[in-house]
Amino acid sequence: MAGRLDGATALVTGASSGIGEASALALAAEGARVALVARRRDRLEALAERIGGGAIVIEADVTVPEQAADAVARTVEAGGRLDVLLANAGVMLLGPAVGAPLEEWDRMVALNVQGVLHTIHAALPHLLDAAATSPRGVSDLAIVSSTAGRAARSGSAVYNLTKSGVGAFAEALRQEVTRRHVRVGLIEPGATATELRDHLRPEQRAAQAKRFETMEPLQPEDVAEGVAYMVTRPRRQAISELTMRPTEQEG
Ligand code: NDP
Repeated sequence: MAGRLDGATALVTGASSGIGEASALALAAEGARVALVARRRDRLEALAERIGGGAIVIEADVTVPEQAADAVARTVEAGGRLDVLLANAGVMLLGPAVGAPLEEWDRMVALNVQGVLHTIHAALPHLLDAAATSPRGVSDLAIVSSTAGRAARSGSAVYNLTKSGVGAFAEALRQEVTRRHVRVGLIEPGATATELRDHLRPEQRAAQAKRFETMEPLQPEDVAEGVAYMVTRPRRQAISELTMRPTEQEG
């Protein structure tokens, strides 16, 4: 059966686990040639094997501008074009702002803001080119934000800052490039069962586990389905925001 992304090339950051991994599989299932970008090469190689021929493994740390640019360049070199970028890699280090390790704030800003910007900066000329010259006549920049980008809560201050900031950036960029058929869309998931909480300090991990113990979280595949939906719309239709929560998640 023909995939809706047959002939398209996609790049997914943070493809070594969670939402990125599931999304890479979903985009590949639609026929895209997918570049898998993250730091853990072994995980990317295992995923490339699951996807089968054509997946491109790129070990890169997107907080380093040159590595993000190189990842985009290698994707275009291998795939001939860049039709879809999923800027997904992120980290969530929660806890009270008072007394928080500054290193945690820096890590979140470096990845959730700067890493996203480095990747998008390198990708934009190629997305514009794909929109102008590809058979689809449109290209997609999907950015994984969070429900934390819509509403702030105590204990999440810098994560809220990074995700709401990315949301503002996405909306401004959307207005700038939409007439040139680059669709900019924000994916805003609620709690999803991934490795995201593994990076929390033990007391914060326990607090998060308690918050979510009465809630069935989303699975990464649920979010991936939303990503695939967003980037396979007809040329005339742009989904600019897609929010999804576990049914039991209030905030
Ligand atoms: P995971 O921790 O499972 O995935 C994070 C991914 O980011 C990994 O593939 C990791 O790979 C990659 N990554 C981390 N640092 C870098 C780096 N410097 N350069 C390149 N890649 C990097 O978590 P999720 O799948 O949950 O997170 C994906 C996105 O979803 C994030 O932006 C997160 O904020 C967002 N989100 C998650 C929610 C959840 O509840 N899980 C809810 C809402 C949003 P590696 O370590 O190999 O580099």
